[in-house]
Amino acid sequence: MLMNMKELLEVADRHHFAVPAFNAGCSQIVKAAIETAEEKHAPVIIEVHPDELEFLGDAFITYCVKAANDTRMPVVIHLDHGSMYSQIERAVRDGYTSVMIDASRRSFEENVLITGRVVEFAHPLGVSVEAELGTIGIMGNSAEEGTKEITYTVPAEAEKFVRLTGVDALAVGIGTAHGLYPKGYVPKLRLDILEEIKAAVHIPLVLHGGSGNPDEEVAAAVKLGINKVNISSDIKDPFYRQVRKTLQDETLREPNEIYKDAMAVMKKIMGQKMDLLGCTDMAGHYRP
Ligand SMILES: [Zn+2]
Repeated sequence: MLMNMKELLEVADRHHFAVPAFNAGCSQIVKAAIETAEEKHAPVIIEVHPDELEFLGDAFITYCVKAANDTRMPVVIHLDHGSMYSQIERAVRDGYTSVMIDASRRSFEENVLITGRVVEFAHPLGVSVEAELGTIGIMGNSAEEGTKEITYTVPAEAEKFVRLTGVDALAVGIGTAHGLYPKGYVPKLRLDILEEIKAAVHIPLVLHGGSGNPDEEVAAAVKLGINKVNISSDIKDPFYRQVRKTLQDETLREPNEIYKDAMAVMKKIMGQKMDLLGCTDMAGHYRP
C-alpha cells in the first residue's frame, strides 16, 4: 500500500509510534524491509538517497513502487537528503511519494526559502516534504551529509520554520550523528530540546543518525514525539559482515546463495527496530 509520508506519519503521531526508514542501496534491502513489515504487520519507509539513485538508476524506483503496491503494509518511497532542486524533480518524476530537502547548512532564511519552494512544487503532486533544521553530525564513516559540529535545533526557530514553509515532517538536531560512533564515544541526546520542539510544532519529527544510540534513548525519543527514525549503518553493517562470511566459500557465485543468509540477518535487525519503535502490529491503523 503505497502512500506519502504525511499520510503515514499522521497515524504514527496519533498513536505515538515511529516508523523505521531503511536506506535501500540495493534491491535486497527493499525486499528484506517489505518482508519484515509483512511479518511484523508494520508500516515501513524505503529511503533512496541521491547517491544511491545515481548508482541504481531511475528504474530502481519503479521496482520499489511495484513492491509497495503489491503489499498490504503501508509503504513510503522517500528521497533521503535531497540537496538540489534537480534531485527533487527527478525523484518526483521517478515515482517517489516523499522527498527530503536538506538545506540545513544554509542560513535560516535560505533554508526557509529553499524548503518553501520544494513544498510548493511537491504538494500539488501529492508528494510530502521533510526538511531539516539544526544539523546532524557525521562520524567520518558515513556517505551521508553531516557536519563536524552538531547544531541543536532551536525550538522557537522550528515553530517559525514549520509555519513559514508548510513542511510535513521535520528532521531535528538533538545530538545524533550519521554513521557508526567510534568505540568509547557517547552521543549526547538532548531529549529536553526534543520535548520543547514537539510542544512548539505540531508535525511529526524525524531522528537521523539513530544507529548506535542506546535503545532506551531511542525509545524515549519516540515517546517524546519522534515518528520516523532513519536507519542505515545498523542494517548494512551486519548485512555485509554476513556477506563477507558467506563469501569465504569461494565456490559461491549465485547472488541468491550469496545474499540469502545476509538478508536473514538483516531482517532480524529490521524486526527488532520495528519492535523498538513501536510500529509492530500498527498496520491495522491504516485504511486502504
Ligand atoms: Zn540523515
